Amino acid sequence: MDLTFTPAEDAFRAESRAWLEANVPHGLRSGDTRDGFAAHLEWERALHEARFAVVSWPDEYGGRGATPMEWLIFEEEYYRAGGPQRVTQNGIFLLAPTVFEFGTKEQQDRILPRMAAAEDLWCQGWSEPNAGSDLAAIQSKAVRDEASGGWRLSGQKTWTTRGAFCTHLFGLFRSDPEAERHRGLTYFLVPLDAPGVTVRGFGRLDGDEGFAEVFLDDVFVPDADVLGAVHEGWGVAMVTTSSERGLTLRSPGRFTATAARLIDLWRERADPDEARLRDAVTRASIDAEAYRWQTFLTVTRMTAGEQLGPESSLTKVFWSDLDVRMHETALELLGVDAERDDTGWMKGYQFALSGPIYAGTNEIQRNLIAERVLGLPRR
Ligand SMILES: Cc1cc2nc3c(=O)[nH]c(=O)nc-3n(C[C@H](O)[C@H](O)[C@H](O)COP(=O)(O)OP(=O)(O)OC[C@H]3O[C@@H](n4cnc5c(N)ncnc54)[C@H](O)[C@@H]3O)c2cc1C
Repeated sequence: MDLTFTPAEDAFRAESRAWLEANVPHGLRSGDTRDGFAAHLEWERALHEARFAVVSWPDEYGGRGATPMEWLIFEEEYYRAGGPQRVTQNGIFLLAPTVFEFGTKEQQDRILPRMAAAEDLWCQGWSEPNAGSDLAAIQSKAVRDEASGGWRLSGQKTWTTRGAFCTHLFGLFRSDPEAERHRGLTYFLVPLDAPGVTVRGFGRLDGDEGFAEVFLDDVFVPDADVLGAVHEGWGVAMVTTSSERGLTLRSPGRFTATAARLIDLWRERADPDEARLRDAVTRASIDAEAYRWQTFLTVTRMTAGEQLGPESSLTKVFWSDLDVRMHETALELLGVDAERDDTGWMKGYQFALSGPIYAGTNEIQRNLIAERVLGLPRR
């Protein structure tokens, strides 16, 4: 791994920094509220116009062909400038890598430019009332409709982030009821305005109404909206989940920026002679930096042609635990002032609490690490 940035990478960083510093909006309402979501879309469209929405994608789809390392640099600059969480993230960071790998050229041409321009907004439909950690227990079904050249989907998805504000859903459905668990699933792309779809929003711990349940009642989806091979959706979905846990959803820039804010807070608020909180801040800063270098290593490996494998579970546990610790330390530094809206730390803490749950709970990730990375026996 080469630890120096090239002149081209330095130039890309400088260009990104200048544009972001001049353009990042501050004080937007949360993108997990309806008004906030609309405001975020304006920002997404500004990013797209400047060709900063999807920097690593090819030019033809709205990107600028940036290398994975340049993408990481952009992410660092994005969070350094105080950029808001991307409301397009489930599409551009989770679905898109899967479309690039499994989509037909027709699907790529149809789906990716509209996703990049924030015209189509994608949410993730994995979880069901009885299929969370045990994702292979999915019951929502897909029944073949030969005459119409497609499938009829029925069932219920839940915990769909920003589902109430999005236009499309990607998800897994049981297409072969006879097959065992992981087999017999197919990956579908579903417009949420299709006849038979009902979306019902519901609230989160922090008061934002960003979740939805999605009910499907005999919803027709043409063959053109199957991603990858029929009955082999599990393998297709694993590309999406590896991206989610390992790299694209939570790039290190977000954590290094939070660590930097935590250091500033410590300078403002702490008793310099008190060792415990100073150590907690130092530890957080070291861990954020460690995650950054670990990610550079992952990117180096991917550039050499390796796939993200089960070790993405290691990074998922690491970043989600780190996020909780950083926010807990901030709340201790703030004391009762943490309750003030304008610090943002309390809201950040409430969201950080969900990190060990979403993208597969940390208990499940630890099982995967034990069995697939360390080769320990299954209990
Ligand atoms: C903020 C947030 C956003 C989300 N966004 C989405 C989204 O956009 N789309 C989507 O599809 N889903 C989403 N989810 C759902 C998320 O993926 C699930 O909550 C998660 O997979 C856990 O499933 P569950 O809630 O059904 O809990 P359960 O699976 O019922 O688990 C309950 C507890 O039991 C533990 N447990 C279960 N099985 C085992 C085992 N074998 N070994 C050890 N411990 C075990 C779990 O770790 C957990 O602590 C989101 C969740 C959150 C919190």
